[in-house]
Amino acid sequence: MDTRTQQSPPARRAFDAVVVGGGVIGLVVAWRAAGRGLSTAVVDPEPGGGAARVAAGMLAAVTELHHGEEALLDLNLESAARYPRFAAELSEAAGAGIGYRSCGTLSVALDADDRAQLRDVHLLQQRCGLDAQWLTGRECRRLEPMLAPGVRGGLRVDGDHQADPRLLAAALLTACERAGVAFHRDWVREVDVRGGRAAGVLLADGTALAAGRVVLAGGCRSGEPAGLPPGVAVPVRPVKGQVLRLRMPRTRPPFLSRTVRAVVRGNPVYLVPRVSGELVIGATSEERGRDTTVTAGGVYELLRDAHELMPGITELPLVETGAGLRPATPDNAPLLGPTALPGLHLATGHHRNGILLAPVTGDAVAEALVTGELPDYARAFGAQRFSVGAPGVPA
Ligand SMILES: Cc1cc2nc3c(=O)[nH]c(=O)nc-3n(C[C@H](O)[C@H](O)[C@H](O)COP(=O)(O)OP(=O)(O)OC[C@H]3O[C@@H](n4cnc5c(N)ncnc54)[C@H](O)[C@@H]3O)c2cc1C
Repeated sequence: MDTRTQQSPPARRAFDAVVVGGGVIGLVVAWRAAGRGLSTAVVDPEPGGGAARVAAGMLAAVTELHHGEEALLDLNLESAARYPRFAAELSEAAGAGIGYRSCGTLSVALDADDRAQLRDVHLLQQRCGLDAQWLTGRECRRLEPMLAPGVRGGLRVDGDHQADPRLLAAALLTACERAGVAFHRDWVREVDVRGGRAAGVLLADGTALAAGRVVLAGGCRSGEPAGLPPGVAVPVRPVKGQVLRLRMPRTRPPFLSRTVRAVVRGNPVYLVPRVSGELVIGATSEERGRDTTVTAGGVYELLRDAHELMPGITELPLVETGAGLRPATPDNAPLLGPTALPGLHLATGHHRNGILLAPVTGDAVAEALVTGELPDYARAFGAQRFSVGAPGVPA
């Protein structure tokens, strides 16, 4: 007897939700979806990787405020406010910390032009009702004695903290596993559309997963799976960032006790000190497609600018260099929740703020998966705002 003729095709495994991409955003969505009672799967060849491997982990709602991004500020503040509880809950669920540290941030100016620019930023912060205090150069150095003598002034922002993105990703992975999230270590090749709605995904190895909801959370690659109808726009592009990791000595007082950032000759640079002794220096911002090469020029510029801020860094061991891709959208804000295709959701486009926005994204997208709608605080970041027919988008 030919047994092959008797075998039926393998049954499609069925989930309430399948999340495409296991970076911090896909993982936080999966963890929160499982917490809301949805049977959930994550598909990613390397879950827990992605941009979090290189990200600095600044939770910088205030010091990342740019002109024209006032709407995003509200979402950033909402997420920053959720961080202490989120960090405690996730650490408990995973049995491991995420390096959440309420250390504050100091933005400094190195010359008269920088100072004028920083004063302008301060005015914007004040107009938005944010807490930021102007300090003289001397006051800045009193807080952080390793700063260059030339520092002309700065803004003390006690509400901008940090988390360790690598620890965050690892904790989310464990929390997902403990919450019963299934993992498929493969690429999603196609979104399976049946009867006018997303009905699952097809993996590169041929496996089919059925699902009532599909979430595209693949960072800058979120729009790549085949099968998306023309009415679904996923306008994300990669913005490369190079980062250095140095090791600080274990001295008292510490080499650097809070995040310090500046704009040096037009280039933003920051130094993020971790309790572990790691000092993260970042980051370049380059539009080079999916290239993640660490270049001599990138390393040189970061060291040059960081050295102007803190000459003492040249004594420290340089232990790692890296580059990652920020998923950027046309308005620098994330794309969240339902798309024009029933059953298909987005959780992507977090650009410079994906670590900061993890708590609010997990909550908002899980809510949309359960109820079909984003909560009020996330509505302005709906996934359909760049789709044909949306206000301001030509048909
Ligand atoms: C240099 C740098 C510094 C940064 N600093 C900060 C900071 O200080 N503070 C902050 O808040 N944010 C920061 N960010 C931004 C933050 O890291 C990102 O916004 C965030 O990590 C994006 O997470 P993500 O899960 O959306 O995407 P990613 O991390 O890119 O993860 C996407 C995942 O999806 C998977 N995937 C893609 N396509 C598919 C597919 N078809 N099938 C299966 N899997 C797929 C990939 O393998 C990947 O694992 C920084 C980023 C960079 C690069």
